[in-house]
Amino acid sequence: YRVKHAGGNQVLHFEADMGEAAERRALERELRGVHERGELRLHYQGRFALGGPRLVGFEALLRWDHPTRGLISPAVFIPMAEESRAILPIGAWVLREACAQAVRWRFAERGLCMSVNVSPMQFEQPTFVGDVQGALRETGLPAGQLVLELTESLVMRDLTQALGHIRALKALGVQVAIDDFGTGYSSLSVLQALPFDQLKIDRSFTSHLTTSASQRVTALLSAMIQLAHTLDMTVTVEGVEDDTQRRLLTGLGCDHVQGFLLARPLPEAQAQALLPGEGLPPGSPRPS
Ligand code: C2E
Ligand code: MG
Ligand code: MG
Ligand code: MG
Repeated sequence: YRVKHAGGNQVLHFEADMGEAAERRALERELRGVHERGELRLHYQGRFALGGPRLVGFEALLRWDHPTRGLISPAVFIPMAEESRAILPIGAWVLREACAQAVRWRFAERGLCMSVNVSPMQFEQPTFVGDVQGALRETGLPAGQLVLELTESLVMRDLTQALGHIRALKALGVQVAIDDFGTGYSSLSVLQALPFDQLKIDRSFTSHLTTSASQRVTALLSAMIQLAHTLDMTVTVEGVEDDTQRRLLTGLGCDHVQGFLLARPLPEAQAQALLPGEGLPPGSPRPS
């Protein structure tokens, strides 16, 4: 393997030539039992209300702390885990661990939310809603403190089942977000069919948001934000990396932002410092 070296908490992303079949098989093999071996880690990225900025919650982001290869990105191993069904125990671990962390951080008292990404195979299990309920009960996290992030391609696989699960989750009090919005083929029909609480606009839109941004980019973002509000959804824009983007998004009426500008995904101890009364206010310089 050749890996790009990244400092601090940054995750190693394999270079394009990692796709070598033998190497891939080795990694797939090692992926089995990864959670029993205790090699999974959650990092937490803050989500902030514009204006303050004020912390409104965290998104739990999974990493594989490989004994020899270092931290491996979920973009590399989640698709592998989907193929081998290893995603089921991994996904269950993520849900439990993220809920337990939210309890340790007293999210209910603080009015914060923990967002957890759900994979297609996990969501397709007939037991999915019961599994979520089980994780809440066992950790003691109130349902209102949990947000489940689903992608468009995930819900499009079976709209009827998706609607059933989403209604049942909402009945429990769990919030549901549509992640990476705007990147799929059927974005608007997904909004027509399913009652999401939150819309997360993909960072491919944010990256085009500069002082010289074309009117098309701002018009699209503005329309997505207004549409979400009309449908009673809260909007989070992903991938906010600079102050210009933050300023422009404030002007467009965006509710929440997530991105390297305010906080990178951080390991537990550093993420904890973002909690009110626990450390530095958001936006202050911090070690990378
Ligand atoms: P996502 O849910 O859209 O998560 C946001 C991704 O954008 C994260 O990548 C985060 O590190 C990155 N990001 C956040 N702010 C910025 C920014 O300002 N600039 C840039 N360039 N990137 C930013 P990460 O952690 O590598 O995760 C990638 C994807 O892997 C996630 O995308 C999600 O789809 C998936 N994933 C992560 N954790 C889990 C998990 O526990 N279960 C499942 N099923 N999928 C997961
Ligand atoms: Mg997400
Ligand atoms: Mg996303
Ligand atoms: Mg994304």
